Amino acid sequence: MASPEFVRVAPELGLDRLFDYRIPDALQGRIRLGQRLRVPWGRREILAYAVEFPRRPEVEKVRDVAEVAGERPLIPTGLCQLARWMADYYACDLAAALRTILPGPVRSHEGGGKMAWWIGPVVGQEDLATKVLKGAKAQKRAWGHLKETGGGWLTALVRDSGIGTATWKALVDRGLAERSERRFVKAEEGPEAGWPDAGKKPELGEEQVAAMKSWEEERKKEGGGRPILLEGVTGSGKTEIYLRALEAVLAEGKTAVVLVPEISLTPQTVARFRGRLAGQRIRLCVLHSAQTTAERRESWHEIREGRARVVIGARSALFAPLENLGLIVVDEEHDGGYKQGESPRYHARDLAVVRGKLEGASVMLGSATPSLESAYNADRERYLRVRLRKRVDGAKLPKVHILDLRKEEKPKSGGPVMLSASLRAALEERRKKGEQSLLLLNRRGYAPSVQCPHCGKVEECERCAVPMTYHRSAGRMKCHFCDAERPAPGVCAECQSPQLKFTGAGTERLEEAVVEALPGVRWTRMDSDSMRARGAHGKALAAFREGRTDILLGTQMIAKGLHFPKVTCVGVVGVDSALNLPDFRASERVFQLLVQVAGRAGRGEIPGEVFVQTYTPFHPAIQFARHHDVDGFREQELEYRRAHGYPPFKRAILVSFSGPSEAQASASIHHVAGRLRELWKGRVEVPEPCSAPIARVEGKFRFQLFLLVDKVPELMGDLKREVLGAKWPSGVRGTIDVDAQDLL
Ligand code: ADP
Ligand code: ZN
Ligand code: ZN
Repeated sequence: MASPEFVRVAPELGLDRLFDYRIPDALQGRIRLGQRLRVPWGRREILAYAVEFPRRPEVEKVRDVAEVAGERPLIPTGLCQLARWMADYYACDLAAALRTILPGPVRSHEGGGKMAWWIGPVVGQEDLATKVLKGAKAQKRAWGHLKETGGGWLTALVRDSGIGTATWKALVDRGLAERSERRFVKAEEGPEAGWPDAGKKPELGEEQVAAMKSWEEERKKEGGGRPILLEGVTGSGKTEIYLRALEAVLAEGKTAVVLVPEISLTPQTVARFRGRLAGQRIRLCVLHSAQTTAERRESWHEIREGRARVVIGARSALFAPLENLGLIVVDEEHDGGYKQGESPRYHARDLAVVRGKLEGASVMLGSATPSLESAYNADRERYLRVRLRKRVDGAKLPKVHILDLRKEEKPKSGGPVMLSASLRAALEERRKKGEQSLLLLNRRGYAPSVQCPHCGKVEECERCAVPMTYHRSAGRMKCHFCDAERPAPGVCAECQSPQLKFTGAGTERLEEAVVEALPGVRWTRMDSDSMRARGAHGKALAAFREGRTDILLGTQMIAKGLHFPKVTCVGVVGVDSALNLPDFRASERVFQLLVQVAGRAGRGEIPGEVFVQTYTPFHPAIQFARHHDVDGFREQELEYRRAHGYPPFKRAILVSFSGPSEAQASASIHHVAGRLRELWKGRVEVPEPCSAPIARVEGKFRFQLFLLVDKVPELMGDLKREVLGAKWPSGVRGTIDVDAQDLL
């Protein structure tokens, strides 16, 4: 390739727009993607990143790059290429993609070369403090806070204590606190409780040895080889394979990223990685959403400078600025949490595959229930399928009982059947034996709708076209789409009838049923309402692990990656509503959830049992899950998808329009559909746009155009121009979701 003549840059202090410059002869060959450059800007110079080498500039008059700042690109070159790929594939602009890979905290402080202050108490100054702080109330409080916490980043101190910046600086001036600009290095945390053997290395089983061998062979191939789809039943030792692969690449001096669906819900997985690496004195950087801005920036630099060679985190950890990447692991690759809901609507699993390819790193996708997309890629040998069919130690998969609710006696209260007789008996029996149970109901609150039996009025959200959920413990009605709430009504708002009917069930109602059916039982309800307090989740898990609770009941929070040897019974309550959602993935999701939650049972020596309560006992998702038949489900589901042209056979692109005026939003999307029909005549079928299943959210009317297309790249330009490039009435917004996951 001839050396490029022009470079497109993103100004460091705002990645909103990109600008073109010429590369002068003197700098030829010195500019790589991601490099920081000095470029003329009006009368001064600013710092900017090289993000692209356009063939020709967008404007006529281009100025010359002034200088290259720093030898090494600040953004790893591979990540710049990834941003470009993202922008093309997900129909967003390059600037937006760059903002995603280079988080705000990193950008905002690099510009002036400013670093945050870290403030800590000066030891042994208690006497001085009592003397000088008399009457200085705020400073006294700040001093107390410092001693209690041991210090922190200034921004975090201000945020946590509510005490302003000036007060902290005054403490420094008085000699009570010291500030440092050095980047503060966190003390290495040891393995967390709950994974006592974290540092120990078990001997691999036969299947695991074979899996490692396949991986080693594959990754020797050019460019890191194909991605591995590690398909292993729950408890088959997949995590052990990730750890071994990780050790192998680290031993070669390379770096690695490990993605988990949700960091706060997978404490055990994190603890295992931590434990194993701590034993080898390798620094692991855990990225999570609870980090402060300063911590995020600190982590970023720690990674960029090569001090941390392993990064573990949720989807955005994929953009960790590692160089010399050897491995990307995507645990529970089927999990919906990998898809970002906001623009750019990327899928971290798919991007992991792209990043791996760009940087020659091996990619390992693991799941007991792979997504149909990945499974199909493995069928076509684009991925290499590696299987673990047996549980470690030969533990048996649990027996799954399907309980037909149509045959169950209805409760006299008129409410839904919460616990059928067999499930109740099973729970009682476990408790007597000192074993534990999990109960899954994937819906929070008490009842998903409240209706007046006399006039039929349903309590609806004023801003969204959905019923509000009754939350009994809070005594409130809550909208699960916009978070609006109001006090729960005592009587019907329409006809004043006092007998309101609670329809359906959420975790609060299940909790009520459990307490009623099993007097004296020790239970914890785990959902986003009850686990709101900081540390609540960890505490609840600890109590369960230590056997202080008999039953853990809750939403899918309890289905994720937990490993409790004493759980021998799992009950699944209310899968039917999930099966009936207007989404072609409904079956797949229910199947995955059932297999995953069933996998929590019988992980110790005592075999487990699973009870699924349903009104549709013969639904294929339930029947295949009953037999743990992942292949059978895949085959049948792929047939259905093929017949309808759904993914993975075609790409699903969801174009959505929303706005405060129903007529305008509708007219806009119809206009787009008309344009696309002209442009794509004979190539792509463009259906009629329609109202979204949730027709109104937050006061905005929503419309959708659901497209199934063969190849994305050629069509993306048209879509981008017609949807994002056009001018719409005020308040109307159009979005494009490539490989859409959320169709509601
Ligand atoms: P998965 O990730 O497939 O659910 P894990 O890796 O969590 O499975 O393994 C399940 C359990 O078996 C864990 O307690 C793990 O420590 C243990 N384990 C994994 N591999 C081995 C092995 N080769 N020998 C003994 N125990 C193992
Ligand atoms: Zn009424
Ligand atoms: Zn609402």
